[in-house]
Amino acid sequence: MSDLLTSPFERRRGLAVGPHAAALPERADVVVVGGGLIGLSIAWRLAQAGRAVLVIERGRVGSGASLAATGMLAPAAEHEPGSDLLLPLALESLRRWPAFRDALQAASGLPIDYREDGAVVLAVGRDEVERLRFRYDLQRRSGVAAAWLSGPQVRAREPLLRPNVTAGIHCPLDAQVDPRLVMAALLRACEVAGVSIVEATGVDALDRAGGRVVGVWAGGVRVGAEAVILAAGAWSGEPGLLPDGLALPVRPIKGQSLALRTTRRTGTLSGMVWTAEVHMAPKSDGGLIVGATVEDCGFKVGVTAGGLFALLEGARRVLPGIEEMEVEAVWSGFRPTSDDDAPIIEEAAPGLLVATGHHRNGYLLAPATADAVTDLLDAGALPAFARGFTRARFGTRDEGRAVA
Ligand SMILES: Cc1cc2nc3c(=O)[nH]c(=O)nc-3n(C[C@H](O)[C@H](O)[C@H](O)COP(=O)(O)OP(=O)(O)OC[C@H]3O[C@@H](n4cnc5c(N)ncnc54)[C@H](O)[C@@H]3O)c2cc1C
Repeated sequence: MSDLLTSPFERRRGLAVGPHAAALPERADVVVVGGGLIGLSIAWRLAQAGRAVLVIERGRVGSGASLAATGMLAPAAEHEPGSDLLLPLALESLRRWPAFRDALQAASGLPIDYREDGAVVLAVGRDEVERLRFRYDLQRRSGVAAAWLSGPQVRAREPLLRPNVTAGIHCPLDAQVDPRLVMAALLRACEVAGVSIVEATGVDALDRAGGRVVGVWAGGVRVGAEAVILAAGAWSGEPGLLPDGLALPVRPIKGQSLALRTTRRTGTLSGMVWTAEVHMAPKSDGGLIVGATVEDCGFKVGVTAGGLFALLEGARRVLPGIEEMEVEAVWSGFRPTSDDDAPIIEEAAPGLLVATGHHRNGYLLAPATADAVTDLLDAGALPAFARGFTRARFGTRDEGRAVA
């Protein structure tokens, strides 16, 4: 979320970098609206290919959903009924992650804590075994890598879990990153590639001429561009950011999370763990992220007692050791969520490209999204793996194209 909207009760794990307050230039090849994970991933790739790229961010870089995430790259653990459209894109993007990681670490000189330690989805008590079995059958039918574990087999992998864990599904290919490290690395990689980043300045309106989007208005300044990329997360549907007649079915879905500090005494998990209520993700710096609530409440800011209680209760149900762990930070953020929870990637109007709606999978989908938008700009068409992700799937008439 934007800094302006952050509740004073939130303690967030922000980026340790100073503000970027450069003056807006008159022109760039590409203007990216939004300095989140998606905006920076695209900006970096386009600048590497030689384009003059300007990122305009209303708050601070990453202050939207991107620094609120857990960083799971988990297409198998997250696969559920109704996500058939998303799964091939999710698997394609996971396949692209090792190359994305190598390029990002090489370009930035910074680590991102990419871990391939897999995920285990748990059943607690006898009642949940049937639900887990249903999920396992779905995963197997979809061709996702997954293995059934008995309760003792789960505890052999994760000895800190309670004996009430009756079964689990091991998803060996699911991976994770540390969002703070990814955002710091992306910021650095963007700077090295020559991307200009201006923070604390919102884009108020698009500039249009002859039926094309030809730039933006931000803080009373006009910036001309050959292309504008709308990557404003949950705020992408705001009126000034779209031509008249064009609507994006994107809304905020709030998530609250917290980070616990593990020590040698408390121990930690060896990989990601999911229950029906929470996920837990151990990071290499000793942090254990417990997330996340799913709240369809608009842009209602802040961490609530109920949210934290649900997370802690859900975690303690399987991991009693959390009682000894220090609470390091609590926060909330707004997932950018489309009507079918899958992203929207397209040229929505001449000169205006859109990359938003990544919901709870922005990290997983960042490499594929950046590659798809680069192809769209270079070749004028989406690559095959991203073609199903235009608004056409919602039956949207393309009124934006006709707007002058
Ligand atoms: C609690 C939580 C847990 C999550 N966990 C995971 C996970 O484990 N794995 C995963 O893959 N994904 C996860 N996600 C989802 C992921 O964080 C998002 O999908 C991703 O960060 C979206 O990135 P974005 O760049 O599109 O949006 P954002 O990060 O929200 O960036 C959009 C930016 O646009 C800026 N902006 C808005 N309006 C304007 C304007 N008019 N002018 C200029 N700038 C503007 C905002 O300030 C913001 O910084 C999680 C999300 C949450 C909230």
